[in-house]
Amino acid sequence: MPEHVVIIGSGPAGWAAAIYASRANLQPLVFEGAETEENRVAGTLPLGQLNLTTEVENYPGFPSGLLHDYIRSALPKERVETYLEPLHEHAHAVTGPELMNLMRQQAVNFGARIITDDVVDVNLGREPFELQTLGGQRYATHTLIVATGARANYLGLPSEERFKNRGVSACAVCDGALPRFRNKPLVVVGGGDSAVEEATYLTKYASTVHMLMRRDVFRASKIMQERALTNPKIKIHYFREVDEVLGDEKQGVTAIRVRNNRDGSKEDLPASGLFLAIGHTPNTNFLKGQLELNEKGYIRYTTLMRTYTSVPGVFAAGDVADDYYRQAITSAGTGCMAALDAERYLAAKGL
Ligand code: NAP
Repeated sequence: MPEHVVIIGSGPAGWAAAIYASRANLQPLVFEGAETEENRVAGTLPLGQLNLTTEVENYPGFPSGLLHDYIRSALPKERVETYLEPLHEHAHAVTGPELMNLMRQQAVNFGARIITDDVVDVNLGREPFELQTLGGQRYATHTLIVATGARANYLGLPSEERFKNRGVSACAVCDGALPRFRNKPLVVVGGGDSAVEEATYLTKYASTVHMLMRRDVFRASKIMQERALTNPKIKIHYFREVDEVLGDEKQGVTAIRVRNNRDGSKEDLPASGLFLAIGHTPNTNFLKGQLELNEKGYIRYTTLMRTYTSVPGVFAAGDVADDYYRQAITSAGTGCMAALDAERYLAAKGL
């Protein structure tokens, strides 16, 4: 029997869709992604990009407070032990991993079923839609909610590729505490909120954090800019780009060759790490061209204030269809909308 609703993705959009669909008695099936090394390197493990961040200070409902007792009471012990220990015992805004585990649990509590695997192939050419997982399983569904999010971009330099996992990273929270980065200078590329967040996080471990910006204008919000400009451990370099990542087989990254994009001059900054925070690419490869995308590669919504895509019965939510807002709260909002759209679609078809 085909499923009523399949949700692909496990960030705020996926879980909000799962919570709404399960409360509508649609018993959604959620593919949360596979726990593979390939997904770890690409930043596409289960629970999405928020799971790679620190505190989520702007998610409504979680002002800073003592959350540990609440989290322990809301989640199964083994989930806390595997994914969240050590829990912060001090007052804090909810962290990305805490928020994502709480959302996942909320979906489970209402009857969502979860498969820890990637969907690698789909056939959206006829209903019911067909899906195939990395593990080779096949599924059919009357409606599909695509909430696969986006992943961090890299610069695309051969030297960057060579040192991935040996000093080059796109996730400070995942890798920042590694011994190779302790008390060493580090380089962060980008001038958006993510770059400031990464740089600030890295100051916990690094001797100095150099932020390289290709312009002299931040994209980050005012409050985050202030954080970068006033942190004594962060040194900002305007009009600078990475020319090459320098290092050797034994030590990994040892320096970054930096190019001044106004006069072309170059300088080697000693550093044991390079962290990229230069935006994101939506995770749409598995769709293999079966949904219309916009000019930036994000899924195109076909109707204003609806989550409809170019294929009736397929809905999109969260960052995979949003090149503009890209917030946890907007993703959760469109996840809710997608579940309601799917429910109405099924009702109209008498399913
Ligand atoms: P972003 O806002 O798009 O910023 C990307 C930054 O990388 C820009 O400074 C951009 O420079 C630079 N960049 C892009 N390509 C580059 C390249 N090839 N070489 C050098 N620099 C390059 O991306 P983001 O910081 O990941 O943020 C994405 C969204 O998530 C935003 O909506 C943001 O508000 C949100 N977010 C919020 C928080 C928070 O509120 N705490 C935290 C993280 C993310 P140009 O400006 O020159 O293009």
